[in-house]
Amino acid sequence: MTSFFAVPPLQEINSAIAHQNNVQLYVLRLDLIHPFVNGNKWFKLKYNLEAAKAQNLTKLLTFGGAYSNHIYATAATGNLFGLQTIGVIRGEQTLPLNPTLDFAVSQGMQLVYLDRQTYRTKQTAELQASLKNRFGDFFMIPEGGCNLNGVRGCTEIISNSASLIKDDFDMICLACGTGTTLAGVALSLRPKQLLIGFPVLKGGEFLKPEIETLLAEYLSSDLPIPGDKNISWELIHDYHFGGYAKVNEELVTFQKEFEKLYKIPLDYVYTAKMFYGVMDLIQQRYFNNCRILLIHTGGLQGNLGIEKRLKKRLK
Ligand SMILES: *Cc1c(COP(=O)(O)O)cnc(C)c1O
Repeated sequence: MTSFFAVPPLQEINSAIAHQNNVQLYVLRLDLIHPFVNGNKWFKLKYNLEAAKAQNLTKLLTFGGAYSNHIYATAATGNLFGLQTIGVIRGEQTLPLNPTLDFAVSQGMQLVYLDRQTYRTKQTAELQASLKNRFGDFFMIPEGGCNLNGVRGCTEIISNSASLIKDDFDMICLACGTGTTLAGVALSLRPKQLLIGFPVLKGGEFLKPEIETLLAEYLSSDLPIPGDKNISWELIHDYHFGGYAKVNEELVTFQKEFEKLYKIPLDYVYTAKMFYGVMDLIQQRYFNNCRILLIHTGGLQGNLGIEKRLKKRLK
């Protein structure tokens, strides 16, 4: 199953400001593991696919917004492994399809639209039953791949590249949406490592209890725990730039500069915000004398939609 995927390269960022503060920065490029199923989404899908297979189900159904990286990755994964996929999309259909949904359809995904109010009821037995009525038996993956299977896959993000990561990092940084990836990485930490999550949603304070619940559920399951049991993690809430998928001039300039300097493309929704935050915190001397691993969680497909929006704004 993993043979489709490359081991992600580990790339050093030679930044003057980091050197001045004695910070060593490395990026784990999950954006390069596969051309379509890139980033953390593969890790969140992996054990969901295995669970579907164990139940002899060949149809996956999942949920997401119209620009969702998770929808994109699920469609591509289904195509790769010969599974049918159904994407339940929040909101009305707009034509022509945006690049994300256009790609999903090209991978064989069947799209269904739910108005926002109905979408909010997606976890109810009633809606699940109506979907079963319509599509027959399927394996349901929650929005964003946020379940224990998703967490389990993410416990392998770092060990998957163990051959590269010989150094002991003091800190590991990543961007958070649902916090599933953070929970998985947290369960793989070595003693004394600190994991820092950068929520990309405004008012992301709700995330802490949700991550705590995910971790507690995982720890009380019999799923494998590769790391130290004394997990230390925190969230830094100062870099959401106004909320989910919101961008401003400053972020766009940073993204462009960063790519030019270090040859690392960043997506605007997640990784650009986290990288901006880390560089800013080094500048503020919040981080110094340490070795930091930044996880590039991918998501670059989303830039197509955002860049279209930015162009419109400039007109
Ligand atoms: C989905 C996504 C995240 C957030 O992952 P969670 O597990 O939901 O916290 C981070 N980065 C990128 C690029 C993503 O697509």
